[in-house]
Amino acid sequence: MFTNDYIQRVYAQVEQRDGDQPEFLQAVREVFETLEPVIEKHPEYEKAGVLERIVEPERVVKFRVAWTDDAGKVQVNRGYRVQFNSAIGPYKGGLRFHPTVNEGVIKFLGFEQILKNSLTTLPMGGGKGGSDFDPKGKSDAEVMRFCQAFMTELCRHIGQFTDVPAGDINVGGREIGYLFGQYKRIRDEYSGVLTGKGLEFGGSLARTEATGYGVCYYTAEALRVLKNDSFEGKTVVISGSGNVAIYAAQKAEQLGAKVVTVSDSNGYVYDPNGIDVTVVKQIKEVERGRIKEYAERVPSAEYHEGCSGVWTVPCDIALPCATQNEINEESAKALVAGGCKVVCEGANMPSTPEAIAVYQQNGLLYGPAKAANAGGVAVSGLEMSQNSYRLSWTFDEVDAKLKNIMETIVAESLKAAKEYGHEGDLMLGANAAGFVKVANAMVAQGI
Ligand code: GLU
Repeated sequence: MFTNDYIQRVYAQVEQRDGDQPEFLQAVREVFETLEPVIEKHPEYEKAGVLERIVEPERVVKFRVAWTDDAGKVQVNRGYRVQFNSAIGPYKGGLRFHPTVNEGVIKFLGFEQILKNSLTTLPMGGGKGGSDFDPKGKSDAEVMRFCQAFMTELCRHIGQFTDVPAGDINVGGREIGYLFGQYKRIRDEYSGVLTGKGLEFGGSLARTEATGYGVCYYTAEALRVLKNDSFEGKTVVISGSGNVAIYAAQKAEQLGAKVVTVSDSNGYVYDPNGIDVTVVKQIKEVERGRIKEYAERVPSAEYHEGCSGVWTVPCDIALPCATQNEINEESAKALVAGGCKVVCEGANMPSTPEAIAVYQQNGLLYGPAKAANAGGVAVSGLEMSQNSYRLSWTFDEVDAKLKNIMETIVAESLKAAKEYGHEGDLMLGANAAGFVKVANAMVAQGI
C-alpha cells in the first residue's frame, strides 16, 4: 500500500492499535499516502519519530455527562475531548454533538485539525471533542442543561492557553453561549476559552460566516490560479443546510453563481431558480425545522427524499457541506456524469477514498477539507487574537483577513505540491504544507 518503509511500519501500528476506528484510519491513510515524498526528503522526521507521535493523541479525555430531561428523567451521554497535538499552539478545534460521535470519529476530526490549523498560518494545535448527545427534538432548556453538564466536566481540561474549543455539527452560537456561561460560573474567569461566542461577549464578527465564506474564497482562488476561471455563471450543488452550507451558498451567489440545492439527513431540495438563502436561514436558524419545509414555501423548489440524490443534480461545482463520507464512489461518478468539474469540501472528510479516486481519474479540481474549510478555525484564531487584545475588529477587517488566509492556503498548497513533485495537486500540497510545519516544530521541541 505504501512504498516508503517508515510510513508502512507506522501505518501498520495504527491499524493494529486503532483497527476499530474506521474514520480515524481513513484520515491517517489518506494523509500518509500523500506524505511519501515529504518523508523521503526529510530523514530527520523518522529519526525524531514524528509519524509515530503525530498519530497518537497527546491526551484523550472521555467522561460521563449526566443531565435531567424535561420529564425529570436522568439521561447519560458520553463526552470526549481529544487533545491531539500542541506542537504549534494550544489545542484548538470544535465540539460536535451527534449520535454518531465516538472516540474514533473525534480522533479523525482531531487528526485533520492538526494539519488544518497549521495551514491557517495561525499558532493553533489540533484538538476536537463532542458527545453522542442528539439535540434533535430536545427543548431549549434540555440543550442548556446538557451543555452545562458537559462543561462541568470539560472545564477542568481546557483554558485560553491550553485548549480552546469551538462549534462543529449541532454546536452553534446557542450552545457556545451556554457552555461559556457555565465555564465562567465554575472557573470565575472571563477569557477567550471558547470561540464562536456571541458578539456581546467576546465573539468575532464574521465567525458565523467564516467556514462557508472561506470555502468559496478558497474555491474562487483555486479556480483563478489553476483554470483561469471563476464562480460567475456557474451552477453549484451544495449539501447540508447548517452553518457551513448556508454561508457557502450566500457567498457563491454573491460571487455570481447559482446554487440549486441544499439538503439535510432526510432529503434535498432542488430549486432551479437558485436557493433563497434567507428562507433556509429562517427554517434552520430561527425555527430549527427540516429542509423539506423550503419546498412548501418556495413554489419553484422540489423536495426529494434521501440525501445522496443531491449528487445526481447536474452542476459545474459541488460543495459538500454536510458530513463525513457523504460522497461515495457512485455519487462521485454521478457528479462527473452531471458535468461537475470542481469539488471543494466544506464538511470534514466528506469524500470516501474511492470518490477521491474518481475525481482524480476525471481531472476534477479537488479542494480537500483541511484546506477548503479552514476558514472557520482561521477566524476562531482571529477571535482569540481579538480576545487577547481586548478589542474587536470590524466585519470587513475580519473578512479581508479570512480571504487573505484562504488565498494563502491555496498558494502554500501549490508551492508544496510543486516542491514535492506533484504540481497542481491541492490534496498532496495541503497535507505536505500542513505537516511540515508541525513536524519541524516537533523535531525542534525534542521528544
Ligand atoms: N469545527 C470547525 C472545524 O472543523 C471549527 C473549529 C474551531 O473553530 O475551532 O474546523
